Amino acid sequence: MTKAIRVRPEIRALRAYTPGVEEPFEIRAKLDFNESPDDVPEEIRAEVLERLKARRWGHYPEFGAPRLKKAIAASIGRSPDEIVVGNGSGETILAAVSVFAGGGSLVLAPPTFSLYGQIAAIGSARVVTVPREGPDFLVDEAAYLAAANSGVPLLCSPNNPTGGVSSRAFVEELLDTTPVVLLDQAYVEFAARADDFMDLVGSGRNVVVFRTLSKAYAAAGFRIGYAVAPPDLAREIDKAVLPFNVDLAAEELALALLARPESARARVASVVEERERVAGTLRRAGHAVASSSANFLFVKPRGSDAAGVRRALLERGVLVRDMTAAAEGRLRVTIGTPTENDLFLSALQEVS
Ligand code: PMP
Repeated sequence: MTKAIRVRPEIRALRAYTPGVEEPFEIRAKLDFNESPDDVPEEIRAEVLERLKARRWGHYPEFGAPRLKKAIAASIGRSPDEIVVGNGSGETILAAVSVFAGGGSLVLAPPTFSLYGQIAAIGSARVVTVPREGPDFLVDEAAYLAAANSGVPLLCSPNNPTGGVSSRAFVEELLDTTPVVLLDQAYVEFAARADDFMDLVGSGRNVVVFRTLSKAYAAAGFRIGYAVAPPDLAREIDKAVLPFNVDLAAEELALALLARPESARARVASVVEERERVAGTLRRAGHAVASSSANFLFVKPRGSDAAGVRRALLERGVLVRDMTAAAEGRLRVTIGTPTENDLFLSALQEVS
């Protein structure tokens, strides 16, 4: 006999993840996940494999990941006791949301990263939304400040999927008026230096900045991210992640990547250059493109049928993300290699 089991209603209400129907098309430009166009350089891969061979696979990683925290801290000019490491930055966002917003509310500005909805449900936070507006999908700052009275703000800057950044003045005002602010800066390496809010961690106010090695460092396959916060906050967030959450392989890769920041910097510079080239070409052809400080563009193809355009691109081997559920007529297109970007541009020319 089957017994009725209780599932938390907010979890029951989430749409279960179902992998997309197998597409019969050969993908020549995978521009749907904001991944790095180039892989981790061969010499770093080889070094990581060598180091992994030398470690005991049957032992847990070092408790508390002290070497990794030290390397991350050094790379961003902060101190190890301000760092919480995660199995991807998503894990640290979930931990912080549970700690600071669990049982309360999380204030979001959609369209924004879709995972936040799932994180709020798992972390038992209600979601309050203040929609972004206009051609660049900017946050309605006055409305957001008002909403932040009733919950914990989680701002994504640069914002996925729209690409724009929040201004420093606005973030400072939020920090001055709310007890704690969560800032997801997964794409900050692709933005201007002034849009990096890491220095605010040392400003004496309660801010948590989330960063990842999945994008600029091309390490998405290994799941390495982190949160940075004043030590008293970092200590609380750390209690909400399970021990040994970053495994040996991820740790070795992170150490190798952080030791060679110039490799990531060069990759980021070419993505930024390509982003501007692709955005310019699209605008000249009459497509709407929101200003982007990230490694993707939020595009409204001319004509109206964005979902149809996505499908036609797919038939030509170009995979982009349909964002029409989040914003009418919009696609999100990751910046790839120059060859992939040209494939996208010429395919779009054919279909729209
Ligand atoms: N934040 C944002 C805005 C993202 O787009 C992503 C990945 N798509 C993440 C966080 C999570 O990245 P990861 O878990 O790979 O570090």
